Order: sequence, then structure tokens, then C-alpha cells
Amino acid sequence: MSVKPGSQEIDRLAELLSTELPNQVSRNVSLATISRWKIGGNAAIYVEPTSVAAAARVMAIMAGRPEPFFVMGDSSNTLFDDAGFAGVVMRIGRNLSAMRVEGTRVWSQAGIWVPKLALATSDAGLGGLEHTTGIPGTLGGLVVMNGGSQRKGVGASVTEVLCADESGELFRMDQRQCGFAYRTSSLQSRRVVVLEVELELKPRLRNESRAEMLAIVRDRRRKFPQKLPNCGSTFLSNPSMYEHIGPPGLAIEQSGLKGLRKGGAVVSTLHANFIVNDGGATCVDVLWLIGHIRETVRQRTGYEMDCEVRHLSPTGELRAAHISAQQIYFREVESA
Ligand SMILES: Cc1cc2nc3c(=O)[nH]c(=O)nc-3n(C[C@H](O)[C@H](O)[C@H](O)COP(=O)(O)OP(=O)(O)OC[C@H]3O[C@@H](n4cnc5c(N)ncnc54)[C@H](O)[C@@H]3O)c2cc1C
Repeated sequence: MSVKPGSQEIDRLAELLSTELPNQVSRNVSLATISRWKIGGNAAIYVEPTSVAAAARVMAIMAGRPEPFFVMGDSSNTLFDDAGFAGVVMRIGRNLSAMRVEGTRVWSQAGIWVPKLALATSDAGLGGLEHTTGIPGTLGGLVVMNGGSQRKGVGASVTEVLCADESGELFRMDQRQCGFAYRTSSLQSRRVVVLEVELELKPRLRNESRAEMLAIVRDRRRKFPQKLPNCGSTFLSNPSMYEHIGPPGLAIEQSGLKGLRKGGAVVSTLHANFIVNDGGATCVDVLWLIGHIRETVRQRTGYEMDCEVRHLSPTGELRAAHISAQQIYFREVESA
């Protein structure tokens, strides 16, 4: 089911955006087609700005408007709704992926593909981004999520970000203002778009950083599902649970949930913290599985696992997926 596009306001908004950003605006775009998880109805309006100025202009146009608005990178941490999105999805992707290196400073636009940035900085004789090499997202999304691996977050290397605020004004935030913490940043609570990122790295021999990256990628290929669409780790690690039980994947596996299926969504048999789309999975399938996993692990261990993955409602609320999942799962359990 998709949100019915075509209200007069949406038509007028699409026209305005198309006039101001020629060839960058599309109507009724299938989120299932463009998203990582291959799930989601249609976005009423989809914008792929080709410049920083164009992205800032979209922010200015959307300021104070009632239509929902969402900024996406590669959606590798986002679950779109089966009912789609009733407003504007703006993608900061490959159109905004220029980068340059000056000494140990790296400057990059936010749409760059993270593994590409990691390789390019290694080629430039710099180390620090090796841990991001297998993460399939954009730099903007990585910074907003403070993503990383090997117990690291990209925020440790970020010195400054250039953003556009709600009214389209450009402004800079330094590392402290970004408030990086485990898989989060203060950017998540502000209506801003990240457009450029400045990073400070360390000199490192290319061979050394390449060897580390290769080891990381090999390890990920062995542990994580590669072929079926997914959104990476579903649940966040919790330090107390980690100490007493282990990481979420182990807790899920020990609860006997590996391979559990709901519709087209399956708990990966390779790594239980991954939910894969085995074909035709819906958002409701994924949310049901998340609700079931969370409740089963809670009953068995006493720990409540929160989601890293976030669910975007058709009207623009973005929340950790376990919050939406609880509504779906318990509604079904109660009515059974
Ligand atoms: C197979 C797989 C493996 C993964 N492994 C890891 C891992 O090891 N470590 C890890 O941390 N994550 C991992 N992830 C999750 C995900 O890749 C990261 O969170 C990633 O950095 C998100 O980037 P994205 O561009 O896809 O963001 P999206 O999912 O598109 O967006 C994530 C959030 O950032 C916001 N956002 C995106 N771009 C911008 C922007 N330019 N300006 C403002 N807001 C923005 C969105 O609104 C949303 O709130 C994995 C995902 C997959 C599919």
C-alpha cells in the first residue's frame, strides 16, 4: 500500500521544487526500489540535489511547510514504511561526493560512499578510517549515526561539519558541538542536512592501512550476510548485557531465533542480529520480527535491546524501530 500522492499541495510543492532544481526532482518514487532493505511504498516527492546550494535551497523551501521531510543517505540504517512517505525525501548521495586531501586534513562532501572514502584516504597515506571500510552508507549518514566498527566511531576523526539549517542557512559545527557518543550524535535531534565533513587523520603507510582494511572486510564477509538485502545490525549493543550475556547476536541466537521467519523477513542464519529480506518482506514483517525478538530476549535474559535501525513513518516521525515494533507486535499478540 502506498501513500496516495496527488494532493494539490503536493503537486504545487513538486512544481516549485522542480522549477528551482531542474532535473533533480521526481514524483512517486518507489522506496522499495531505492532502499537498502528493498522495503517501502512510494515517496510522494524525491529530490537528489546536485550541489550544496541546491540542497540548502530545498531546506529553505521546506521551512515551515506542513509536508513531511526526510534526508537520506543510502538508507542503510533506515526502515521505510509500507505506506511510503507522504512528503519529500531528499537524498544526499553520489551527486555530492567530491573530496580532497590537504596534508592530514580530509575534506569531503557528505554523499560520498564510505568504503570509497576509506580507500581514497588510505591511498593518500592516511590512516584512521580503516574501521569504516565495510560500512555500506554515505559519509553524512555515518556522521549522523557516529557509525564505525572495531569499537570505533567516525566522530573521533571529525573536526567540523558544514550543515544547512531549517531555513537553508549554511553553518559549521565542530566536533564538540556534534556531541558524538555510541552510535549517536546531536545532529540526530536537529533538523539539519550535513553537506560537507572535515576529518583529521594520521599519516600511515598505505600497505599497512590496506592490510588492516582487507582483514576487516574478510572478517565481515565471513560473519555478515552478503547477498540478501538488510540494514546491518538491528539491535544496539548494551554494555551491561554484553558483560553478562554477550552481544545482541549471541543473545538472539541463544534464544533460538536464528532463521525465524515472518513473511519475507528472516533472522539471518549467519548472524542473528541481522534481519534479511528473503523476497517480498514488508515493513510490518520486519517490525513484527523486531518486536518478537526483543520480547523473547527480554523474557529469557531480563535485558531490553534497543534498535540501531530507525523506522520512518509515512508522516515523517523517525524513531528507533523497536518503538514502532512494540505497537505492531503486541497488537497482534493481544488480538491472537
Ligand atoms: C550490511 C550493513 C552493514 C552495516 N555495518 C555497520 C557497521 O559496521 N557499523 C555501523 O555503525 N553501521 C553499520 N551499518 C549501518 C549503516 O550503514 C550506518 O549507520 C550508515 O553510516 C548509515 O549511512 P546511510 O547513508 O545509509 O544513512 P541513512 O540510513 O540514509 O540515514 C541514517 C540517518 O542519518 C540521517 N542522514 C543521512 N544522511 C544525512 C545527511 N547528509 N544530513 C543529515 N542527516 C542525514 C538520516 O536522516 C537518518 O536519520 C551497516 C548497514 C548495513 C546494511
